[in-house]
Amino acid sequence: MSNPACRAETKAGASCRAMPLPGRDVCIMHAPDMAEKIAAARMKGGTAAAKLRVLQGKRLRLDSPAALAKFMSGLIQDVMAGTLGVDTARTVVYAVSVQRQVVEHAEKAELEKRLVEVERLLAQRRLG
Ligand SMILES: [Zn+2]
Repeated sequence: MSNPACRAETKAGASCRAMPLPGRDVCIMHAPDMAEKIAAARMKGGTAAAKLRVLQGKRLRLDSPAALAKFMSGLIQDVMAGTLGVDTARTVVYAVSVQRQVVEHAEKAELEKRLVEVERLLAQRRLG
């Protein structure tokens, strides 16, 4: 059996732990002969892994400013790494800006609901 994880080290010096290529002891990122293929895939606008991450990203619950911020930082890193096409990134950034407004609207509605409740309780006290 092959090794369960890539035997190379990351730039930080930790062990890689990614899945090795079939019949080899290093992952795709640590196989020197794969570098050219990875570069070519990036030139085409995205690796399969990046595309999968985008699809998975679509299923994330982007219903809070914190979730949106986390999603955006991942998106920025994908764009910087060249693993996400610029057109896709632009569309997603637009969607995030719309979603941010939806989230803010929902939060504002929730605050107003709470304020109404506080005012109701205050009015009750004055009467009591
Ligand atoms: Zn590796």
